[in-house]
Amino acid sequence: MVRYLAEFMLSTLGGGLVRVVTLLDLLYYKSCREYLWLPKMNSFYLHQTPDLSTKVKELGKASGEDAFSSYEQVDSLPFRCWIYSASSQGRAIPIFKVLMSNSCRNNCLYCASRSGRDFPRYSLKPEELAHAFAELYSSRMVEGIFLSSAIEDNPDRTMEQMIRAIELIRFQYKFRGYVHLKLMPGAKLHYVERAIELADRVSVNLEAPNQSRLSKIGPNKEFAHALKQMEYAKKLIEQGMGRARSQTTQFVLGASGESDEEILDTLNLVYENFNLRRCYFRCFHPVPDTPLEGYPPTVKWRERRLYQSDFLIRNYGFKPDEMVLDAGGNLLLNIDPKLAWVNCHPELFPVEINTAEPEELLRVPGFGPRTVSRILELRSRGKLNPGDLRRVGVPLKRAAPFLLVDGRRIDSKDCPIRLSLL
Ligand code: SF4
Repeated sequence: MVRYLAEFMLSTLGGGLVRVVTLLDLLYYKSCREYLWLPKMNSFYLHQTPDLSTKVKELGKASGEDAFSSYEQVDSLPFRCWIYSASSQGRAIPIFKVLMSNSCRNNCLYCASRSGRDFPRYSLKPEELAHAFAELYSSRMVEGIFLSSAIEDNPDRTMEQMIRAIELIRFQYKFRGYVHLKLMPGAKLHYVERAIELADRVSVNLEAPNQSRLSKIGPNKEFAHALKQMEYAKKLIEQGMGRARSQTTQFVLGASGESDEEILDTLNLVYENFNLRRCYFRCFHPVPDTPLEGYPPTVKWRERRLYQSDFLIRNYGFKPDEMVLDAGGNLLLNIDPKLAWVNCHPELFPVEINTAEPEELLRVPGFGPRTVSRILELRSRGKLNPGDLRRVGVPLKRAAPFLLVDGRRIDSKDCPIRLSLL
């Protein structure tokens, strides 16, 4: 009680009295906060009017809590902002990643922007966001934008604001470069159409692998609706209805107690049905003043093993159910998933490099799609020998135990073998 009274007095001194608070208000407020995660009083009663620069900085920072690891905070003019590198056609391009708002009506248990937390909330108007991006772009600090948001009042209204901002960027500021637009959970399907028309890539965050897991961390979110958004996006992309050429999704690892097996099952579902370009994974880390603040953070190796598995599924022809799991349905943390699979299939090795099918070569440790296409090209000119393999950059130390060259093992004296487990 004393704490809330003190908060109220501080608020009053700092920002001006907005309304008279009675003792009854305080008692009611405290009891509600305990059970409903209402915001604390100081942010509840004070109206904040930050400048554009502060909003851009804070909403960029908040977006960094969302997904990617390769973030850089840039202090130079015109805005202090958060930029991450996206790779496009072999080139890293700087992307301005920002939230439209970090004020959310939802109460996802793991999320820093959930409505029950007490911290400063900011929102950008579409005109402000478009102007900030145009300034950054004309200063050559960024070459694209990734726009996401918390759900301020309702998902449709939030989508309208985001779409309006991108419309301004496209039509008023005549920006033709890369735009990634997040589709808000629960937003009506017709917003997907406009997003596909305007953006180069759209994404829907699944966050968890199925509805029962999602219900544990995002009480207001519907897994089936997210799948519907993906299905509709796929249909429009395939019909060439706009600019968008791809869609992605993201999972939070460890917040809902899900296993890797559940995530791999869902990867299978989304890759087979919705033609996703790729999936992103984000380790759960506990955020103070949330219901999961006492939970342990998810280890980074889990994220790495899932990314490796995802890569094998997308680029190497592996099926999700080929991944080697432990008794709890999780990937093995101490070994690369490809090597784990190879160790379970000694009957398939060694493979003859001069006659093996491309799919067989792709299963050899150390071989990737580029290595395999170089081998096939060399093979079309004649039989290969170990020297040829060295010339095309085959990692012989890793691959030699699994290969035959013209019926013979590669000589380990010429090529010392040291298997790495990582
Ligand atoms: S809807 Fe998004 S921003 Fe809002 S609480 Fe849930 S995860 Fe956080």
